[in-house]
Amino acid sequence: MTMIDFIKNNDKSPSFLGIYIHIPFCRTKCLYCDFCSFVSRSDGEREEYVSALLKEIEARGTKEYLVDTIYFGGGTPSLLSSKQIGRILSALRENFVVCEDVEITLECNPMISKRDVEEAVPYGDGLDLRDVEDVAPYGVEGYFAQLRRIGVNRLSIGIQSAIDSELKLIGRRHTFEEAKRTFFAARESGFENISVDLMFGIPSQTMESLEISLRQFISLGAEHISIYSLQLEEGTPLYRLQDRYIIPDDDVVASMYENVVSLMKEAGYSHYEISNFAKEDRESRHNSKYWRLDEYLGLGVAAHSDFGGKRLENTKDMAKYLSGECVENELVIGESEREFEFLMLGLRTSEGISKSEFLHRFGIDFDVKYGEKVKKLEKMGYFWQNDDRIALNERGFEVSNMILAQILDFDY
Ligand code: SF4
Repeated sequence: MTMIDFIKNNDKSPSFLGIYIHIPFCRTKCLYCDFCSFVSRSDGEREEYVSALLKEIEARGTKEYLVDTIYFGGGTPSLLSSKQIGRILSALRENFVVCEDVEITLECNPMISKRDVEEAVPYGDGLDLRDVEDVAPYGVEGYFAQLRRIGVNRLSIGIQSAIDSELKLIGRRHTFEEAKRTFFAARESGFENISVDLMFGIPSQTMESLEISLRQFISLGAEHISIYSLQLEEGTPLYRLQDRYIIPDDDVVASMYENVVSLMKEAGYSHYEISNFAKEDRESRHNSKYWRLDEYLGLGVAAHSDFGGKRLENTKDMAKYLSGECVENELVIGESEREFEFLMLGLRTSEGISKSEFLHRFGIDFDVKYGEKVKKLEKMGYFWQNDDRIALNERGFEVSNMILAQILDFDY
């Protein structure tokens, strides 16, 4: 539906909505991962999950919004068949009003063969790897072509590094060669908007190896590159095993970030958010909603929503979710928390925040409340501002945690 059709039918301007769909299955668990994802080897459990998801979509559908982004995240959404993705999209179209030019992103991992898995997985976790099958029995190109046909128009591929030994150390299942094959299969199937993920600060990585990875990623020609530093999360195997590895320290990680930014700019990508780079007009429309505090609805186990002025948290308990108990917590966000989030998230982006929007949302004059602190930091060369907007510049991005902590009075 177009915006004009929506206004004709509803007699009002539309509010836009992003929808996030969580697919919590992975083939194996990466050593650093603390996301809500479960190792899945059975088609039956995935089908049962899709059925529960369809029920949640039906229960939470609304025609009051115009859906302009849909994001399948995980986990590994590409473990679902294109038919299952298609059924989810049809249910969304039936129960919501979906824009004609909706951005539909699907996260996927590089696709690999059974033989590749046996050779590439570096550690035993009780899985019989011979059970692991290629995700797309009819071929990777066929899978991507079907995704295009059902309306998926953006892919986000978790590659992480171009160095196979680094991929092994963090427990990724693929090699860089397989990642490249996946990327070009997607291209040949008609995907013109592809994002890839790169990680820095990973065990044994050096400035030189990171630069090799980055140059390889750039040469793929992806429209969008997300670049994150590895976080050692308590409870993950990598956290427990960290003493065994040489992990780049904070100073090296800071220099890595600096180097990444300058290489990405040299390659013509705009640095539109602290961890995200895009070619012209290829910013992630869905993720931009999070940074602007726009409304989104999260569906699926462990998904979060910011919807109707409330923060909704779905249960992380798969059994409960399958039985139809979806939303576990409902929190009303207070004004001061909203204000904190608005500044915290907005200042992560290169366009920063608008002072007039701040006044409109919170009834507070930004300069009166934060002007003194900002002035000091501006003198140190961390901000740019004009009459209305204020944003961190590249120097500011490098020390963003310190700056945000100073402005917003928190320890980091
Ligand atoms: S593929 Fe992603 S979600 Fe799955 S285990 Fe690895 S990091 Fe976690």
